Amino acid sequence: HFDHTDGNEWLNAEGAVILAHENTKKRLMTIQRVDDWDFEFPRPPLAAVPSETVGDETSLKLNKSTLMLKHHPNAHTDGDISVTFREANIVHTGDLYWNGIYPFIDYSTGGGIDGKIRAVEEILSRVTDETIVIPGHGQPLSKKSELSDYRKMLVDIRGNVARLKAEGKPIDEVIAAKPTEQFDAKWGQFVIGPEFFTRLVYHGV
Ligand SMILES: [Zn+2]
Repeated sequence: HFDHTDGNEWLNAEGAVILAHENTKKRLMTIQRVDDWDFEFPRPPLAAVPSETVGDETSLKLNKSTLMLKHHPNAHTDGDISVTFREANIVHTGDLYWNGIYPFIDYSTGGGIDGKIRAVEEILSRVTDETIVIPGHGQPLSKKSELSDYRKMLVDIRGNVARLKAEGKPIDEVIAAKPTEQFDAKWGQFVIGPEFFTRLVYHGV
């Protein structure tokens, strides 16, 4: 999405190599329609398109840092990677993790609630209480315990919405039943409100 790639052209002009998952490169080569925003993002200039791609898992040595790049399929989109800076004990999750706020899930580019939960569980299994966790949105410095709260929120809301959907309820009735209610005061204060988040989860269960 533009909010994470719009600086690519400037970085490239400074000599940086732009590296991403191969699906992200594919996405940046064409116009991207995001259905839930009813908006089409134009194709960025070629200088903003990644010139190198990675597959499922790769590690790089840059200066004295080891960077581990891990793809998390069908989560926020189909091109999400987390980046672990091993010596510094930092993990950047991109939009797999929105700290303290309901996240966007982009089904039109291959994302889904179940992949998002799997991605968070995978990252949780590889961090310690000392790891600095950097989310895609929300308070920019986070940690394992907060990522764990985020996982619980996702799993509980997924469970509530899936149960109502399995009873045959259409989306409007599921929204009216307030399946996110216990989490709204904390998590529902940013661009993805309770109703929108319920729709996003409903889509994927
Ligand atoms: Zn974002």
